[in-house]
Amino acid sequence: PFITLEGIDGAGKSTHLPWLADKLRARGVEVVVTREPGGTPLGEKLRELLLAEPMHVETEALLMFAARREHLDCVILPALRRGAYVISDRFTDASFAYQCGGRGIAESRLRILEDWVQDGLQPDLTLLFDVEVAVAGKRLATNASLDRFEQQQQDFFERVRAMYLQRAGQFPARFRVVRSERSLDEIRDDLEPIIAAI
Ligand code: C5P
Repeated sequence: PFITLEGIDGAGKSTHLPWLADKLRARGVEVVVTREPGGTPLGEKLRELLLAEPMHVETEALLMFAARREHLDCVILPALRRGAYVISDRFTDASFAYQCGGRGIAESRLRILEDWVQDGLQPDLTLLFDVEVAVAGKRLATNASLDRFEQQQQDFFERVRAMYLQRAGQFPARFRVVRSERSLDEIRDDLEPIIAAI
């Protein structure tokens, strides 16, 4: 099974990831935890460039999908083939949310890249950690070194959030929206049955 975690910066997905991985490991299965952009040596180099270097939006989208192809070939597909659970901190929904919703690249262009790079592969479960942009912003404000994306203005994140929610509505079979401004315990109570079902 392939599980992806999504949400705007500061939504808290990275806080819940280790807990989710432990929950699954408690079943005695192999769990591979990875992230995008990144997840491979080349992907991590691309991540450094993507987070630091100003570039055209089309270049950004292409590099995201290049890193994704490497990630699929080297990490995700081999793990799924041997029956492991894969949990990825972000995947293609982030490209639609950030590069399309946030930066304005045409959705049709991203769909071409998605088809090309993924050959039909989609996550079995996508957890969307959804939070008001102002709340996420306050969480980020406590973090001293913000990357190129995290420095964006509120309206950028409003567009990213809206695109995530639009996709959740479009693909209800795999999306679960988790209201993320609540306490850790409340969120975990929500996650328990979702995780139990996969
Ligand atoms: O998940 P994490 O915060 O580590 O992601 C690093 C940065 O890359 C984030 O600020 C995220 O917004 C950005 N990103 C993006 N497009 C993607 C994936 C991540 O803009 N497709």
